[in-house]
Amino acid sequence: MKEVKPPKKPLLFYYGIVLLCVVLFNAFIAPMLMDDPVKEVDYGTFMRMVDNKEVDKVQVNTNEITFMDKEGKVYYTSAMEDPDLTQRLYESGAAFDRVIEKTMSPLVSYLITGVLPIILFVALGQYLYKRLMSQAGGKDSLMFGGMGKSNAKVYIQSTEGIHFSDVAGEDEAKESLAEIVDYLHNPAKYSEVGASMPKGLLLVGPPGTGKTMLAKAVAGESNVPFFSISGSEFVEMFVGMGASKVRDLFEQAKEKAPCIVFIDEIDAIGKKRDGQFGGNDEREQTLNQLLTEMDGFDSNNGVIILAATNRPESLDPALTRPGRFDRRIPVELPDLNGREAILKVHARKIKADPDVDYHVIARMTSGASGAELANIINEGALRAVRSGRKTVSQADLEESVEVVIAGYQKKNAVMSDRERSIVAYHEIGHALVAALQSHSAPVQKITIIPRTSGALGYTMQVEENDKYLLSKEELENKIATLTGGRAAEEVVFNEVTTGASNDIEQATKLARAMITRYGMSEDFGMVAMETITNQYLGGDTTLSCSAETQRVIDQKVVDMIKKQHEKAVNMLKENREKLEKLAQYLTEKETITGEEFMKILDSFKEAAV
Ligand code: ADP
Ligand code: ZN
Repeated sequence: MKEVKPPKKPLLFYYGIVLLCVVLFNAFIAPMLMDDPVKEVDYGTFMRMVDNKEVDKVQVNTNEITFMDKEGKVYYTSAMEDPDLTQRLYESGAAFDRVIEKTMSPLVSYLITGVLPIILFVALGQYLYKRLMSQAGGKDSLMFGGMGKSNAKVYIQSTEGIHFSDVAGEDEAKESLAEIVDYLHNPAKYSEVGASMPKGLLLVGPPGTGKTMLAKAVAGESNVPFFSISGSEFVEMFVGMGASKVRDLFEQAKEKAPCIVFIDEIDAIGKKRDGQFGGNDEREQTLNQLLTEMDGFDSNNGVIILAATNRPESLDPALTRPGRFDRRIPVELPDLNGREAILKVHARKIKADPDVDYHVIARMTSGASGAELANIINEGALRAVRSGRKTVSQADLEESVEVVIAGYQKKNAVMSDRERSIVAYHEIGHALVAALQSHSAPVQKITIIPRTSGALGYTMQVEENDKYLLSKEELENKIATLTGGRAAEEVVFNEVTTGASNDIEQATKLARAMITRYGMSEDFGMVAMETITNQYLGGDTTLSCSAETQRVIDQKVVDMIKKQHEKAVNMLKENREKLEKLAQYLTEKETITGEEFMKILDSFKEAAV
């Protein structure tokens, strides 16, 4: 099976370039370098200068005379038949001698001029060839069709001793994978009953949720070799290389069975083959090879293939049909308990105060992935070191949550008092609207310290528990809360600023989703006007309705947001006193906690009673 076409051209191309360089060097650069600043004069001038005692040193060679005048300038002239020269030089007082030219032995000069360039040339060629081969990772020698030795890349990797206990949360995924571990420990148990393991398992989920970790943990738990490669590594410059890599990988895996083969980012090769625009030959060949390999081995030979992707919808159906990657294991973003567990797993690596409450941190990080949580713990540890402490405190971790969400504090951002005041009212506007609507989540923290992400301030809302269902009213209240910032600016300053752009975006997204996907508008009922195209990467949507309907949708979105905006404005007008007091307090303190906020709010209630 040697359908790898030897790409002779590129290799010859490299040799050609080297040759060209050598020629150019010899023709132009070398003479320039050798050019010396010695002046040629005629013999008469030389004689005259000697007679005038202007010459300091003379060197007589066989064919030429080199001499230096008293100012240190060097001349040369061709030697003449001049028997009196010695006498005249002696009289002029110049130092002189005759040099027997040290010519190189013919062998050495032949070696330098003839053999050395060839050696260099070959060495360079070899170097380039090796680099090419290691890039290609191909098994067969490219240039010499099978003459070269196999230098296949070894894909085997260490699992870094990762076990299931290192992967927190993700219990469902672990449960599915535990079966694989059990099978690898004792394949006979399965074959006795006639059950066969799935050959391929597909881990799907957003980035940073621990898919790679889970794959390593399966290998670690079952104590088998772990082969790992990323989908993008297959896609090579030369057509056919990817396919030969796939062949290579499976050959090695079969030798080492039982083992785990992990293909990260499988979407890089496994995209749907649509054949448009001529398609991508290299990718398709690689994919075809992968499909062939997967069909080619018996499912009970102990090679288990795990693959990870965050765009499962883009995979070719041929890849996910039974017998290939037929089992799909969702690895979702962690819920509240999952986040707490992940924080605790990573906290094992740091020295934290014993009274750190990870539950609080988990509540602050709704929507964060495992990788982000790991990052938060590390940022907290860095902060502790920065302030010269030996252990990580609760405050370190809370600050690092904000760093990961909103970036670092801008220490020396200069804001005018008026701007600060606008930001304070804006943020209190959000918080107050949220608090006044009974269904909105309590506020955790409000701050007007600018962050490097560009946020001038923000209100951190925290859900008590993870919410899986949101009612229409809750969503409307969310929109009202998002418009609350702008509403406060309008109520207090009677003008609007650019500060609300992010709120506007979010509110629009929510309103749109309510109408087009959640069936929350009377006119459309339960008809989907939009479908999500990539669930795990930002959730882009595509419209699937007529142009007229689109217009109606747009109008409905506008109406919905307008209604909530008005609601927020009215709410703030009715509670103007509270708004003023809270905003002033925030301007003064820069950061206030949810408790402080509620205390001020409650003081009004008591006063009213
Ligand atoms: P993915 O492959 O899903 O993009 P990784 O497995 O590479 O994510 O995870 C990146 C890092 O995030 C890991 O090295 C680990 O530190 C952390 N991490 C992610 N999920 C978890 C988890 N469930 N438990 C513990 N750590 C996790
Ligand atoms: Zn805002």
